Amino acid sequence: TENNTFANNTTTCCYCGVGCGIVLSKDNQERITVEGDKNHPVNKGMLCSKGMNLHYTANDKSDRLLYPAMRYNKNMPLQQVSWGKALERTAMVFKALIAKHGPDSVAFYASGQCLTEEYYVVNKLIKGFIGSNNIDTNSRLCMSSAVVGYKMSLGEDTVPISYDDIEIADCIFVAGANPAWCHPILWRRVEAAKEKNPDLKIIVSDPRRTQTCSLADVHLQLNPGTDITLHHAIGRCLIEDGHIDLDFIAKSTNGFEKYQSTVFETSLKDAADICGIEESDIRLAASFIGNANGFITMWTMGLNQSVVGTNKNLSLINLNLITGHIGKPGSGPFSLTGQPNAMGGREVGGLSNLLPAHRNLNNESHRNEVEKFWQIPLGTIQPKPGLTATEMFDELNTGKLKAIWILCTNPLISLPDVRKAEEGLKKAKFVVVQDISNTVETLKYADVVLPAAAWAEKEGTMTNAGRYISYLSKVIQAPGEALPDAEIICRFAHKMGFEGFDFKNAAAIYDEHAALTEGTNIDISGLNYEILKEKRAVQWPYPKQEKAFGTARLFEDHQFFTVDKKANIISFDGQNQSEPLTPAHPLILTTGRIRDQWHTRSKTGKVNKLNQHISESFLEIHPADAEKRNIKDNDVVEMNSLRGNVRLKAKFSTDIKPGVVFMPMHWGKILKSDLNRVNNLTSNLVDPQSKEPDFKFTAVEVKLY
Ligand code: SF4
Repeated sequence: TENNTFANNTTTCCYCGVGCGIVLSKDNQERITVEGDKNHPVNKGMLCSKGMNLHYTANDKSDRLLYPAMRYNKNMPLQQVSWGKALERTAMVFKALIAKHGPDSVAFYASGQCLTEEYYVVNKLIKGFIGSNNIDTNSRLCMSSAVVGYKMSLGEDTVPISYDDIEIADCIFVAGANPAWCHPILWRRVEAAKEKNPDLKIIVSDPRRTQTCSLADVHLQLNPGTDITLHHAIGRCLIEDGHIDLDFIAKSTNGFEKYQSTVFETSLKDAADICGIEESDIRLAASFIGNANGFITMWTMGLNQSVVGTNKNLSLINLNLITGHIGKPGSGPFSLTGQPNAMGGREVGGLSNLLPAHRNLNNESHRNEVEKFWQIPLGTIQPKPGLTATEMFDELNTGKLKAIWILCTNPLISLPDVRKAEEGLKKAKFVVVQDISNTVETLKYADVVLPAAAWAEKEGTMTNAGRYISYLSKVIQAPGEALPDAEIICRFAHKMGFEGFDFKNAAAIYDEHAALTEGTNIDISGLNYEILKEKRAVQWPYPKQEKAFGTARLFEDHQFFTVDKKANIISFDGQNQSEPLTPAHPLILTTGRIRDQWHTRSKTGKVNKLNQHISESFLEIHPADAEKRNIKDNDVVEMNSLRGNVRLKAKFSTDIKPGVVFMPMHWGKILKSDLNRVNNLTSNLVDPQSKEPDFKFTAVEVKLY
């Protein structure tokens, strides 16, 4: 209402995983303004450039999908229809495909930007009622290596620390991340901590000298793909210098002896040569860690988006485990979530290999618990994992997968080897696109289009990077006939004839999800919308039987979530498995974000102020590599890989390691050309354990166009 109280107008930023609190005000034209929420425990009033400009995105309805639409065959144009007609047709096609080809002939591809309630109902629908595990999300492209790493080492997918640990750490190792641009408000907290305590040591490992490096005491500018070798070398130094916690290792971990022999297989000199850095810098980094009372490892896509992403995660977490820097103030592993609600999605089981509340799909008693809770026959939930993000598009190509429903994401910019993914979408028998934007490239292949409500137009929750569950309020009406994503899914479930989707509102969905967590490690049965509105962000677990205030730090008792309660120090060789460089493709392409754009630019691309920072895609190349190819700064160049090509301007930089080139992930098709889309090039290799793509290592060549 116009008389919104302060509490009712608070919400959470919908961009990165930091989860900053925002206070919204609106005028009588339903136009909003934003400001940082000074009472929010995460950002304390601060917002970065993206969050600060969210009102422009929310107020601009010019590119919004307003009505459901569909076409009866691929050659016809889309026509506006009623919600009833769109969902009836979709249900009819889904039923026919399932009857003829089985439940695994359909799939849902969702997003780490979906709210927890949305994830919950989609996951319930496909796993519990359709009888397939074919749900995956773009979180597969982002965090799945961290998920597997945490599960293998700590027993469960969990971030053990709180943001408040930043202010009491003595040493922070930022591995393969640029939080100064990609998690800016969290990084402001690191900057403030360093200003207050100049003895706080910052180590950064990255093949590029990014904004984050300006705060670093040592920048390890390593060769792409050599992170495990670096982490092992640091581990070796810590052991040699006696900077490990033998008591913690003996009482609370498994696997140290094998780890010790593994890290001693490579001399420090050889490790430095492999990584392309100075031996003395490895020793310096190790001494910072060894002398710290509180040590945080912080990482994101540089480790996750790799064909050996799980092992990169494990090798970094091992540094916390051998030094005993976990479960104590200012210490612990801290994966920075790329998307705002990647964690919440995993908590409701929203990946093809998960069940709600971190239960395991391959565990019969876990499946039965969920089946009883959902009141469906035992044996309904299938034990075999469904298709992952990239597998879905592969199987559209083979014809095994017939229908795909895409919610809140644009795979035609973000998937690796995207032209192959596009071929898959062309071959699909039936495509549903549920989105806010009328410019998203997937619409070209859609048989049914469903307009969704956007941020500030719907209510729900997210779990941000540090296990912080936060609330998002509905403040303005969605345009046209757009509906909240959860409501669309529930209406579809009705059309399919399924019971169990009669939710009165978003709070009722949340309450069902929370009840299903009871008794698990992520128990939030004591947490509801009222508490979230008041406290703004609460870290799980929050069980109802305890006097719960959220749990800032996990594992303070050194009891991990593994069967024997010990953490696992896991060893393996450091070999990278990316595609090889060849004389035809001698350069390594790495991809990533820039400061003022978000994902595929459907929101940030609408804001002039944000486009002013960097207005078009570019190729960052070292002058030495450019000179060998007769390329000058700002020349238009063509870059190719075994999969495709792009054409764009070269931008010289000595901040990138020779032999490596960088291109942002955000841009896709403009008009009729797809030549600014980096994923025309990227490798289709995935980590065998996490199924996360190898975005950070593609063999390419660049030439003058
Ligand atoms: Fe939003 Fe992330 Fe910026 Fe905070 S740091 S305002 S959550 S984009």
